[in-house]
Amino acid sequence: MSRYLTTSAITLRTQSRGENDRVYTLYTGRTGLVEAVADGSQKVCSKLAGHLEPFGEVMVTLVRRGAGYKLSGAIARQRFRRINDSGEAMAAAGACLQFTRRMMITGHPEAETYALLRDALAQLNTPASKFAVSAAPTVYALKLLAQMGFQPQLDRCGRCRAAIHDGSFDVVAGSLRCPRCQKKNTGQYIAVDAVAVAYLRMALALPLAGVLHVAVAGPTLAVARELVARFAEYHTEVARAAAGPAVVLS
Ligand SMILES: [Zn+2]
Repeated sequence: MSRYLTTSAITLRTQSRGENDRVYTLYTGRTGLVEAVADGSQKVCSKLAGHLEPFGEVMVTLVRRGAGYKLSGAIARQRFRRINDSGEAMAAAGACLQFTRRMMITGHPEAETYALLRDALAQLNTPASKFAVSAAPTVYALKLLAQMGFQPQLDRCGRCRAAIHDGSFDVVAGSLRCPRCQKKNTGQYIAVDAVAVAYLRMALALPLAGVLHVAVAGPTLAVARELVARFAEYHTEVARAAAGPAVVLS
């Protein structure tokens, strides 16, 4: 394998290290999540920084160094500048980046997830509506979870298999429950009405842009948001193992 890797990337986080170094957490199209160090003693460091600002797509050249990477080049490919014009869009885009970082194991593939994240930023750059901005982190997170193999089952009761359209969502089982199949007195259920179930089914079925063109009432989005956040928190070891606050989608 070559020491060099050139790939498209989206910056998820930037941190300072030591006196001059910067550590970039990147989601790359070719190899998923990577951390790359930009050496502060390099003259190019400050030049690279401008290309690696959040809410943009960048071509990076990485050089293997030990278990990690050193950043040797970066050229901005596309900036989603309009995200910065709105506090709500910035917060929503930030939530998508943060969720990606928390859910992804280093090296998790790859192209499909990269395309979804890029699409989320593009949608937030020119949002269909105010609602689209507020819904984007939840819809993005739901689709990312499905890509990772955590797809909630929303067409039938996960226990008796009866076809149902509402009831409760069992966070532990990742599926709907009809009233007869619920255990009593556990905190693992979220009540979901038929509108919320239909919205979540649609969010899984349609492309991101299509989902964000459909507005639902605030309480329906709130149920979807809670369901996705708790599902993510329960079903990913990464989220549980990570020190720090719980998954936040808004
Ligand atoms: Zn049942």
